Amino acid sequence: MKRVAKLRYISTRGEAPILEFDEVLLAGLAADGGLYVPESWPRFDADDFRALRGLSYAETATRVMAPFIGGRIEQPVFERLVRDAYDSFDHPAVTPLRQLDANLWLLELFHGPTLAFKDLALQFLGRLFDHVLTRRGERVTIVGATSGDTGSAAIEACRDREAIEIFILHPHGRVSEVQRRQMTTVTARNVHNIAIKGSFDDCQDLVKAMFADRGFRDELRLSAVNSINWARIMAQIVYYVQAAVALGAPDRPVGFAVPTGNFGNVYAGYAARQMGLPIAQLTIGSNRNDILTRFMETGVMEMRAVEPSLSPSMDIQVSSNFERLLFDVCDREGRAVMDTMVAFRRTGKLEVPQGGMKTIRALFDGYRMDDAQTLDAIAAEHRAHGQLLDPHTVIGVGAARARHRYPATPAVALATAHPAKFPDAVERAAGIRPALPPRLAELMHREERYAVLPNDIGAVKAHVRSGATTERMQ
Ligand SMILES: *Cc1c(COP(=O)(O)O)cnc(C)c1O
Repeated sequence: MKRVAKLRYISTRGEAPILEFDEVLLAGLAADGGLYVPESWPRFDADDFRALRGLSYAETATRVMAPFIGGRIEQPVFERLVRDAYDSFDHPAVTPLRQLDANLWLLELFHGPTLAFKDLALQFLGRLFDHVLTRRGERVTIVGATSGDTGSAAIEACRDREAIEIFILHPHGRVSEVQRRQMTTVTARNVHNIAIKGSFDDCQDLVKAMFADRGFRDELRLSAVNSINWARIMAQIVYYVQAAVALGAPDRPVGFAVPTGNFGNVYAGYAARQMGLPIAQLTIGSNRNDILTRFMETGVMEMRAVEPSLSPSMDIQVSSNFERLLFDVCDREGRAVMDTMVAFRRTGKLEVPQGGMKTIRALFDGYRMDDAQTLDAIAAEHRAHGQLLDPHTVIGVGAARARHRYPATPAVALATAHPAKFPDAVERAAGIRPALPPRLAELMHREERYAVLPNDIGAVKAHVRSGATTERMQ
C-alpha cells in the first residue's frame, strides 16, 4: 500500500489554511467558505483490496480510513473507536447485502441505533470528536435543528460523550411520535431536546441566529456535525469498499445507486473510486426536489424552492457536497470553484466549466421519482420479492433498475433507512405497517425529557447557556 505519510487537507476554494485530519474534523466548513478535501487521493492497488476479503466491517473500516487519518490518532485508539462505533449496530455484518434480483443487491445501511444510514458516519464521528476534544482539553456545544428524521442520529452519536453538550431543536407537535421519542427518550446528561413553538424553519432560523452571534458562538464554542464534515464522508467510503469487495472487486466492477440529498453519500462512492475501487457507475436518485437529476439532464444546476415529499431526508434545495466533485472537475483550481459558487449564490444557476460535464456524465446518472411513483414502486417491489422498502430506499432501487448501464456488472442500491422509520408511507403503499425492530420496540414506553420553549431567540439562548436544566415531561 502506498501510504501517504501525512495526508493533509485543502479547501475547495483554495484560500483557507491547509489542515491536518483532526483540525479538519473540528473545523467543519473551511474559513474561505469551501469544503475540505484530501490534498491527494490515497490509492489502494488490487492486492490491497483483495486483502480485505473476509475481514469484519471494523477491520475493513480501519484499513480504509487509516490513510485519511494521516497518523493524527494513535493506531490503538483509532482501532478502539472504530470497534466501539460499529459494535452499536445490531447486525453482525454491520452493512449486510441482500439480493433482490438476478443482478440487483440491496446494501442495508439501517442497522444502527436510529435506523438510517447516517449512523454509519455519526456513530464513529461522535467518538472521534470526543477523543480529539478531550485530548486537547476542550469542549464543544453542538446545536442543530431537525424536522424529525435526522436529529436522532446526531443525538445518538453524542450521547454520554464527555466533551460534548448537544442541543437539538424540533418544531413542537410537528414531528411524528416515533421521531420525537427517538430523540426525547435519550436521557443522557449531555443531551438537551428543545421543542420550539413554531415551524421547522423557525428552528433553523434560531440555530442560524445562535451561530451568527459571535460572542455567543465563541463563549459556548458552538459546533455542528453537519453533512459537510470530511470525517463523515471518510466513514461512508467504507461500506462502498466492503460491498464491492464482497461482490468481486477488484476483479469485477460494481455499480451503485444512491438516494441522494446533500450529495454526501454518493460523493463517498466517488471517493472510493478515486482510491482505486472499480466503480463503473454511480446513479443519483432524487424525489421531486430534483436539482441533481435536472443537472444531469441539462448540464445546468438551478435552484428552486423546496417542496415536501414522502422522502423528507432528500428534500433539499442545493446539495452542499457537490462542491467537492466540482473541485475535481475544475482540475482542483480553488479560484474556479470560488467564482462558480459565488455566481451560483448570486444567480441561482451553476454551469460546470468546459469538459467538466463530460467527466461527470461518464460516471454519474440521474433518476427521479415523484410521490405517486414512490408509492407505486414500494408496492411493486413488495410484490416482486416480499421486501418492504422505505420511501428513500425505493428511489435508489428504482434508479438501479432504470439506469443500469452495464448488464454484467452487479448493481447495488443503497438502503438508507429502515421501512419502520417511515411507516405511514410504507403502509399507504403496501398495506402493511412495518414493525419497529426489537431495539426500538420499547420506545413507546420509555420516559421522555424535553423542554418546550417559545420561538424566541432570547429564551433559547438563555436555555442553552444555562447548560439546560431540562424539564421532565411525563
Ligand atoms: C440523509 C439521508 C439521505 C440523503 O443523503 P445525502 O448524503 O444527504 O445525499 C437519503 N436517505 C436517508 C434516509 C437519509 O437520512
